[in-house]
Amino acid sequence: MDIFIRNGMIYDPEIGFHGRKNIVVKDGRIAALTDELLAADTIIDAEGLYVVPGFIDIHIHEDTLTEDQINYSTECAALRMGVTTVVGGNCGFSPENLEEYIAYLQKQGAPVNTMMLQGYNTIRGKFFTDAQNQSAYRQGDVYASVSEAQIEQAKEEVKKSLELGAAGLSFGLEYTPGCSFHELTSVCSVLKDFPNALITVHYRHDAGRCLDSIRECIQLSEETGVPLEFSHIGSCAGYGDKRYMEEALTLLQTAREEGIDITADCYPYNAFSTLIGSTVFDDGALEKWGVSYDAILPIQGKFKNCACTREIFDYLRKEEPDTRVVCFAMKEENVFRAYKDDAVIVASDGKFVENQGHARTAGTFPRVLGLLCRERGILSFEEAIKKMTLLPANRMHLTEKGRLQVGKDADITILDRNAVREGNTFVEPAKAPLGIAYVIVNGNIAMCHGEIQSASDGVFINRQDS
Ligand SMILES: [Zn+2]
Repeated sequence: MDIFIRNGMIYDPEIGFHGRKNIVVKDGRIAALTDELLAADTIIDAEGLYVVPGFIDIHIHEDTLTEDQINYSTECAALRMGVTTVVGGNCGFSPENLEEYIAYLQKQGAPVNTMMLQGYNTIRGKFFTDAQNQSAYRQGDVYASVSEAQIEQAKEEVKKSLELGAAGLSFGLEYTPGCSFHELTSVCSVLKDFPNALITVHYRHDAGRCLDSIRECIQLSEETGVPLEFSHIGSCAGYGDKRYMEEALTLLQTAREEGIDITADCYPYNAFSTLIGSTVFDDGALEKWGVSYDAILPIQGKFKNCACTREIFDYLRKEEPDTRVVCFAMKEENVFRAYKDDAVIVASDGKFVENQGHARTAGTFPRVLGLLCRERGILSFEEAIKKMTLLPANRMHLTEKGRLQVGKDADITILDRNAVREGNTFVEPAKAPLGIAYVIVNGNIAMCHGEIQSASDGVFINRQDS
């Protein structure tokens, strides 16, 4: 055997098994669950710890490939949280050259297993090469419509990406106001030929118009017949009046009861993060959220960690639009409410560049287990683990992951249930969480007590069509 994990408390969210067993890991798989104590080259003593399936984060923004190299800031943060599989390419944004990106993953490996979505905004932006690029999130004229010929061209690109193994197609509708519903249904029609391909959508509107956005997604999934993942519902419906979130969840639940395959994910913070030059901060945004300029905190550049004033905001919007900011605009209790819904998945929406970014990137999973479960009692440990493992595995049709059973992939997280919590803050976002003892990726120890042991055990995972 390769690794013997002894004396841990095991929890498998599918069987519901809870109990003390030893685990044998061999050739990347879980070879046995046993009461026997066996000898092995590598022994992990899990006395007093919980052993659960590695977490699956279905919503990250992948680390960028530049000059033939990926600096894995985001994926390393994921690994330290207990994550063993991620899905990149969300909110409409994916690598300019997905084929090259996938080839890199296949050749070099990655800290964690990686699936990729094709971002539609990335395709759409290429139609507007003449337009002034105001910000990385405004690729071309995002308010303009596209022609029928361009839609056909986009469909070809989507098809090509799906043939490369992309998990599906992501939209960032808030960033492309010019994208019509007709355009959406047209490009999504391609996915019908690819079983298990899904659509993920960063909504068109938040706050007071969040319900319109959810209705649009329900209609999109219903008309195309393609499964849909509604991205980070907390930053769509978590504002002001708590009825927004209640009604948002009810709309989704009702749609599911009517047979529409639509679920949502959520990160556990009352602040979102984006580029200050993006459409998110167009006129009227602050009024809509009921916050003032000081709710916006630049997390890079010359005003890093210095709350905005009107002057700083105007300056950055105009002169340094690619400055990443966090904005404390949602209400924590409304965001946390989302997790009470059985179908809502825990996902980080993480993105670090050189270890800088929103705290969710390195804090999401431990924060849910520490703050929401243990301290606030909003959901149980078992419910939380299920939302981090089995639910996202099922969403992505990963039948060999998200489970702690004999024969399944040896993606395993070993944690201290009584100590796990985020270790970072918005000012020090990259600090490792507490209580995550070991993370095993494909049968190898990839992380131990906050220290990365290996950053290349993860593989690229094709969309699963079985
Ligand atoms: Zn998004």
